[in-house]
Amino acid sequence: MEKIKSEKHFFSFSAQNTPVLKVTSGTVLEMETMDCFSNQIQNSSDTVETLDWSKINPATGPIFIEGAEEGDALKVEILDISVAKKGIMVAGKGEGTLGHLLKGIHTKMIPIEGKMAIFDSKISIPLNKMIGVIGVAPKEGEISCGTPGSHGGNMDNLMITTGATLYLPVFVKGALFGLGDLHAAMGDGEIGVSGIEVAGSVKLRLEVVKNLKISDPILSNVDYFTTIASGKTVDDAIARATENMAFILKNRMPLNLHEIIMLMSATGQSQICQIVDPLKTARFAMPIWVLETYKFELY
Ligand code: CA
Ligand code: ZN
Repeated sequence: MEKIKSEKHFFSFSAQNTPVLKVTSGTVLEMETMDCFSNQIQNSSDTVETLDWSKINPATGPIFIEGAEEGDALKVEILDISVAKKGIMVAGKGEGTLGHLLKGIHTKMIPIEGKMAIFDSKISIPLNKMIGVIGVAPKEGEISCGTPGSHGGNMDNLMITTGATLYLPVFVKGALFGLGDLHAAMGDGEIGVSGIEVAGSVKLRLEVVKNLKISDPILSNVDYFTTIASGKTVDDAIARATENMAFILKNRMPLNLHEIIMLMSATGQSQICQIVDPLKTARFAMPIWVLETYKFELY
C-alpha cells in the first residue's frame, strides 16, 4: 500500500498545487498527517503566542486521481484512522463562541492512551477519531485549509470518521485531494475552536465516480445519508444542506417534491458540524432505512 508522509503538505486548496502522487481510481493508500499546528506545540510551555501562524491546518497531499474531471465526484472511503499519543486543546480570548469570556490563550496537552484521551486525573474521554480538513482543489483561486466550502476543506464534521464514505465534487483535472487536522475527539460545533488536535494517519480508498454531479459534499455511513454545506451563518448552511438533499432525493425517488419535504421533515436531522471557522458548516441526515424503502441509489 502506498504511504504518503506528512512532509508533503499544503496550506491552501488550489488547482496550482503540484501533486505529490498520482494514483488510479480505486487506489487504497495511507496518508500521514500533522496536527493543525503543524506539530509546533510539543508541551504546555509552547504557547500559541510563539506559533508560526502561516503553518496552521496543513493538509497532506495533494493527490492527483487519474480520470477525475470536472463534473465527476471523488468517492473517499475512510477505512481507518490512527492518532498519535499527544493531543492538544486550545481555548482563548476571541476564539470560538465563548472567547469573549477568556483572557489570554490557554493550551492543554491531552495524552492519548488506548481508546481514551486523558483530560485530567479525574476524567478520560472516549475517542471519536475524525478528520477535520478533507477536500479537493476549487475551480478557481485558492482556499485556505482553515476554510470550509463546496470543495470540502475545514468542515470539522464528526461523521467524517472510520466507516464513512465521503463524496466530493471534482472541479479540476485529477481532483487534487488532501486531508489533515485529525481530532482524537470533538463535539458538534467545536465551540471552543479546537477539538483534541492530534497528528496521525488515515487509511482510505479513492475512487472516481464519473458524471456524478454534486454541488457540495455528501457523506453516508451505515445509518445515515447526509448532505454537508457551509455558509456565512448556520441558517445559510442548513438551508443549503436541506435544499441539496431535497433535489438529490427528488431525482432518485418516485415522490413529489412536497412529499420529499414531508419525509425530510418527519425523519431527517438538521445537525451542526462546526460554528467556529470562517464559514459555518451543517449537515442534513436522512435515515438509511427511509431511503432503502424507495430503493434509493446515489448513482
Ligand atoms: Ca478544523
Ligand atoms: Zn482541528
